[in-house]
Amino acid sequence: MTSMTASHAADLVAALLFILSLAGLSQHRTSRAGVVHGIAGMALALAATVVVAAQSITAGAVALIVLAMALGAALGLWRARRVEMTQMPELIAVLHSFVGLAAVLVGWNSYLEVEAHGTAQTRIGADLLGIHHAEVFIGIFIGAVTFTGSIVAFLKLSARIASRPLMLPGKNALNVGALGVFVALTVWFTISPGLPLMIAVTVLALALGWHLVASIGGGDMPVVVSMLNSYSGWAAAAAGFLLDNNLLIVTGALVGSSGAYLSYIMCKAMNRSFLSVIAGGFGIEAPSGRDEEQGEHHEVRAEEAAEMLARARSVIITPGYGMAVAQAQHPVAELTRRLRERGVEVRFGVHPVAGRLPGHMNVLLAEAKVPYDIVLELDEINDDFADTSVVLVIGANDTVNPAAAEDPASPIAGMPVLRVWEAEHVIVFKRSMASGYAGVQNPLFFRENSSMLFGDAKQSVEEILHALGTNDDHGPAPGTRRATSVRG
Ligand code: NDP
Repeated sequence: MTSMTASHAADLVAALLFILSLAGLSQHRTSRAGVVHGIAGMALALAATVVVAAQSITAGAVALIVLAMALGAALGLWRARRVEMTQMPELIAVLHSFVGLAAVLVGWNSYLEVEAHGTAQTRIGADLLGIHHAEVFIGIFIGAVTFTGSIVAFLKLSARIASRPLMLPGKNALNVGALGVFVALTVWFTISPGLPLMIAVTVLALALGWHLVASIGGGDMPVVVSMLNSYSGWAAAAAGFLLDNNLLIVTGALVGSSGAYLSYIMCKAMNRSFLSVIAGGFGIEAPSGRDEEQGEHHEVRAEEAAEMLARARSVIITPGYGMAVAQAQHPVAELTRRLRERGVEVRFGVHPVAGRLPGHMNVLLAEAKVPYDIVLELDEINDDFADTSVVLVIGANDTVNPAAAEDPASPIAGMPVLRVWEAEHVIVFKRSMASGYAGVQNPLFFRENSSMLFGDAKQSVEEILHALGTNDDHGPAPGTRRATSVRG
């Protein structure tokens, strides 16, 4: 077998491993296998690429490639070991920006190579030069949009800039106009390539990427992250065309299409228009931003919460980002076990965008060994709140905000939320009256049947466990399970 055939075979096996990886990652039970398949596919792809490259470049260049890979791997391992689960979306956004930047550099390199050597010393036939120019332009455009878009996403997700949407006058016209200019420049460049056009498309795409993501509001950021994932895939595929690397094209297409599908699923879950979000919030008007006086909130102590729980017939726990910050999943799982032992029906209601990653809460609950069968999705549990004694809102905020369902002027209007307020009692675990990720006030906190349990969620749940233990010593009367209000 020649080394070229061996490399094609390696590409094929690596592509299959990537497909297996995606299939594995779609379910908790198979996700570890999915990760292993992904690692194996990437290791094989890298090895095959270096072996093929080694035949046409100097030993010094091979050493440089190996050095770059070792440095990248060391940095990646270091970051992956240190990153908190709650910082994952930020890290993913940064990684997407690298893919975008790489695509831009590949595009520029490919252009300069043809400029310097003409087509004679490159693999491009003179008759295919026009197509090559278009590839260069498209690759740079997608890569640059991904690069700056991902940087803005990183800044928003890490709260370095405000998460509210940037509302420049005529923002939709700016986005559509930029696309029109790109098409015109591409045609021009294909006919008559030149450095000024290269600079123009790079600057245009960098500005468009920045504006697209800056225009999208806090509540829609989950879609933005998966959308940038998709863009990074297409950027990689474009680089694959320029580098004549089939595996990069296949892998880029896999990432691009699976990211696009995930964005679509998340848009459906959040009742958002897919096209509007990928077009930088196209058609979304500026939110009213009004912050009405909401009234008074009521506070509850852990002992009183424990008393309510001990008497409850049924409990639903709705976890959110705060549970992840507090790392409260283990005491929450212990609380679930203790309540179930006492005969209380306990279930979890998980919102599709709770936390900061798709599936964030499911991962935490699985880690704490909460049985899968009591962890229900929004659609499965939303009608049951009205018949529930106590809801524990543990570090969730936007995902339980009644304004989404009741206030058409709210920036999160129309987003499906967990209707926790329909339960007999709601206990909200958080540290202050601060708003959630979308920066929207939550009227739930001021409802008659809501009580705030202030403090770190882990500590509060542990205090409840302690109080329940004390109650157990006194022997609560099983059977008396109706919750009573603590506010008299
Ligand atoms: P939110 O982000 O709306 O609110 C989390 C709440 O947790 C805050 O109000 C905060 O209040 C509280 N909190 C923080 N730390 C602690 C702690 N140690 N103990 C107790 N409470 C704490 O959470 P949700 O999960 O309801 O909503 C997720 C939001 O994030 C949505 O807007 C979603 O669109 C967005 N998003 C989701 C992504 C995803 O893929 N899932 C990705 C990007 C964004 P306080 O400070 O007062 O304690």
